[in-house]
Amino acid sequence: MSEAHTILVIEDEPNLVIGLRDALEHHGYGVLAANTGTDGLELAMTGQADLIILDVMLPGMTGLEVCTELRQRGVATPVIMLTAKSQESDKIIGLDMGADDYVTKPFSVSELLARVRAHLRRADDGGALPDRVEIGSAQVDFKKYCVFKGDEQHDLTDREVAMLRLMIEHPHEVITRDRLLDEVWGLNAYPTTRTIDTFVYRLRQKLEDDSQNPKHLLTVRGAGYKYIP
Ligand code: CA
Repeated sequence: MSEAHTILVIEDEPNLVIGLRDALEHHGYGVLAANTGTDGLELAMTGQADLIILDVMLPGMTGLEVCTELRQRGVATPVIMLTAKSQESDKIIGLDMGADDYVTKPFSVSELLARVRAHLRRADDGGALPDRVEIGSAQVDFKKYCVFKGDEQHDLTDREVAMLRLMIEHPHEVITRDRLLDEVWGLNAYPTTRTIDTFVYRLRQKLEDDSQNPKHLLTVRGAGYKYIP
């Protein structure tokens, strides 16, 4: 599934690089690594990487600067940023700078791998979603992680964005709970049925005109969920 893909890891913490390299190689990816922003940018420019995992806090050039520079030079390789919890604003800035996703440290490797898979698949499909998608009377902004509905504005969590992307990319298709768990929660997370139901309920409140009678995010009994545009 992932044999041919090469991941560039730009990170200055040696232990994290070793851990990521092991995990990625174990899953069949080729790995390139750089421990400064400058070296990372140089490697990224060679076009060998199919996806870039980019730490924000780097010596010399920050991850945000690397990302800005890449996009200015027309490099469209998917970028997943690694941000620290204490720097919540970095994720917003990172997305504005052209990053495709972010993972907050400390993160679970399986969650990161799920994101890597999702972004590679999307890149292979050639079909990145537009930044804004209309769902009924709501507008979802995937860059800003929020939903506009009438004069309401709701923030979206990264999991909500991941679920919406998955659903919107597969309209009218039943998205099974297993798939949702794999692609939205990651392999080592075991949310209860109730957790997922609550999650979907909150998402409906943000998106649907009437969350009790959803028209777009439907439950398919005993199977999963379905998105109707
Ligand atoms: Ca760092």
